[in-house]
Amino acid sequence: MKDSLKVYNTLTRKKEIFEPLQTPHVGMYVCGPTVYSEVHLGNSRTFISFDIIYRYLSHLGYKVRYVRNITDAGHLENDTDEGEDKISKKARLEELEPMEIVQKYTLDFHHVLQMFNNLPPSIEPTATGHIIEQISMVEDILSKKLAYESNGSIYFDVEAFNQEFNNDYGKLSGRNIEDLISNTRNLDGQGEKHNPADFALWKKASSEHIMRWKSPWGEGFPGWHMECSVMSSKYLGKQFDIHGGGMDLKFPHHECEIAQNKASNGKQDPVKYWLHANMLTLNGQKMSKSTGNTLLPNELFSGDNDKLSKAFSPMVVRFFMLQAHYRSTLDLSDTALQAAEKGFAKLMAATELASKLTPQPESSVNIEEWIDNCYSALNDDFNTPILIAHLFEAVKIINSVNVGLESLNSGDLKKLQVKLNNFIFDILGLKNEAAQNDNDELLNDVMNTLIELRQQAKQKKDWAFADLIRNELSKLNISLKDTKKGTDWELEK
Ligand code: AMP
Ligand code: ZN
Repeated sequence: MKDSLKVYNTLTRKKEIFEPLQTPHVGMYVCGPTVYSEVHLGNSRTFISFDIIYRYLSHLGYKVRYVRNITDAGHLENDTDEGEDKISKKARLEELEPMEIVQKYTLDFHHVLQMFNNLPPSIEPTATGHIIEQISMVEDILSKKLAYESNGSIYFDVEAFNQEFNNDYGKLSGRNIEDLISNTRNLDGQGEKHNPADFALWKKASSEHIMRWKSPWGEGFPGWHMECSVMSSKYLGKQFDIHGGGMDLKFPHHECEIAQNKASNGKQDPVKYWLHANMLTLNGQKMSKSTGNTLLPNELFSGDNDKLSKAFSPMVVRFFMLQAHYRSTLDLSDTALQAAEKGFAKLMAATELASKLTPQPESSVNIEEWIDNCYSALNDDFNTPILIAHLFEAVKIINSVNVGLESLNSGDLKKLQVKLNNFIFDILGLKNEAAQNDNDELLNDVMNTLIELRQQAKQKKDWAFADLIRNELSKLNISLKDTKKGTDWELEK
């Protein structure tokens, strides 16, 4: 490999060579979902983007600890510390316990990500599982006089922080503190703040607020940004390598996280590389639950939505998303999905063909150069669209070798096969759904043949042979069930 991995760091606004704090270990924290509704395709895009990053770092040999949280308390309807808790509100509307809402939508989230073939993170901590740690971080920041109590709530003192920390607040998002102060409307609860730019570390629970915990300041709940500061430092240390999330989280969420971590842990930057994934849009507008401009993964998989002409499989949708760089916006449309479906089918057909090619004595193609180009694309801030362009060059090579216009010797052919597998399946995380369906059909046919043979043996009273078939299948975890209508089979997993 010629070049090393470079990543675009939002904090420095530059592409930087990726050098982990403690090679070969990499600590990566990604803000997870607020589990109050079904995960939409926009959310899925961000998690697919970080899945590629996780997969590629692992492919390069790094030992990645990937922490992705579940926000199950503290995320209010409005970013300015007011409104109802999103989960409590849904619980009230659906007449369920807040934890029933959390359970329902966490399961939905896991199911959707599994459909997209995302790998699970190493740790998936929850906000409610870390209330004690959050209270202690608030106490710590208070003791350093960078926060204050007001009417049972604790607010971060942005001005005091800026004086002590070199005007750091606003550096990640590029916001100017003076604008922040003058642009912030005077909303509910803002009167408790010394300064409109201050943000809540802990909020006093009003009498109707259901999700509440005891604290030194009375009953309340943590501010939304607290959980990520606490859980990232608990599992990855006071300084770690990568922090990710969608672009829309840069401000206020990530800006506040940095301020909290520094206030509590000292001047060092808590995160070496800040990575932000761009938005999925629908009709040119950000896909978002709150505006109703949204498509759910299941609607795509079933085709059950007016915006779609047909159903699209999870791998086609994943492939569609990877055709854009994770830092570019991507607009979802039926036409673009149809084009992705064709492209994906072509790529899968070529990978199948590649495994059947016959090697020749000489190679007419420079496979090493092709491999270098693929790695260069990934090393350039995980540039999946360029990688996919190179994969289509491989499709051309495979088709030309197949008809004898080009040739590959056995070493090069093996390299091509191995690397196609690495890039398409291990790193891009795609799956050959058609091959999977073909395999399922083949298994069905084989099973029907065996059941028929066993039936014939029984008719001839050859009980020994009939039992042999049943016993041998049972060793493969396949059970046969004789019913009035015939014999059913089941593969026990
Ligand atoms: P939330 O559940 O709203 O906290 O969002 C979970 C993740 O999805 C966050 O990283 C968001 O930045 C991300 N996200 C939300 N909307 C979109 C969108 N339209 N496109 C891409 N990512 C999104
Ligand atoms: Zn977060």
